[in-house]
Amino acid sequence: MAVERTLSIIKPDAVQKNAIGAILGRFEKAGLRIAAAKMLHLSRDDAGGFYAVHQARSFYGELCDFMSSGPVLVTVLEGEGAIAKNRDLMGATNPKDAAAGTIRADFADSIDANAVHGSDSAETAAWEISYFFGQREIFAH
Ligand code: ADP
Ligand code: MG
Repeated sequence: MAVERTLSIIKPDAVQKNAIGAILGRFEKAGLRIAAAKMLHLSRDDAGGFYAVHQARSFYGELCDFMSSGPVLVTVLEGEGAIAKNRDLMGATNPKDAAAGTIRADFADSIDANAVHGSDSAETAAWEISYFFGQREIFAH
């Protein structure tokens, strides 16, 4: 399998719960490397631009409010099959449906406060990484 990069966000609810280290530890234990990291408090426009793909959805306004409600930790994860591996570690969007042992099963409270974001394809990963990071902020291993 090819080495890939994917964008991860530890969302405001998980930062508030003091779970940054626990979540990053899961990525590292699964063989993913943290190739870039920054803590940010997104403006509502930052959040809206990032989630523009969901603009027409009923939950878009709430999603933008939530994502700009407190600081987040944005990272680039790198490793073999990183995109799918991260999605597996995250679990289903709704924590009620997330498999036991996944990040969302263990840290998320609801479908909107669901602890983490992860890119869902190679194409979105490239776009999402470039939304937050310049090439000189990403460190290959
Ligand atoms: P994922 O984050 O698993 O890729 P989506 O891309 O479908 O999920 O949705 C983006 C985010 O929007 C979700 O993580 C969640 O926080 C929020 N969201 C999705 N569906 C709903 C919904 N039905 N109600 C409220 N929030 C939602
Ligand atoms: Mg998504």
